[in-house]
Amino acid sequence: MSTTIKASCPTCGEVELTPADVSLMVCSTATRSYYAFDCPTCVTEIRKPADDHVVSLLVSGGVPAQVWDLPAEALEAKAGPPLGYDDLLDFALHLGTTDLLASLAAGPAGQPAR
Ligand SMILES: [Zn+2]
Repeated sequence: MSTTIKASCPTCGEVELTPADVSLMVCSTATRSYYAFDCPTCVTEIRKPADDHVVSLLVSGGVPAQVWDLPAEALEAKAGPPLGYDDLLDFALHLGTTDLLASLAAGPAGQPAR
């Protein structure tokens, strides 16, 4: 007999899972722990944060906890402003020039390779 785990899908509402359906990822940084499952109805992968309470509920329901470490760089303070739309646009525009750059590199100046 297996335990039924109730979880909720943002699209379908409450769904019932078995322990085998759920991945419990317990992080060395507790606030980054989460559990994941594929919604049995819409097949979307759902990830939700798992606090201590959720972790112990899932573990007692038979879900094995997988421990992972957050890479140290993820906890580093980031200097400077976050990337914005303009940065993305600049990047996209830059990508649009790479064909030209590549042809300049491939052939003599002024005679793009064909
Ligand atoms: Zn769903």
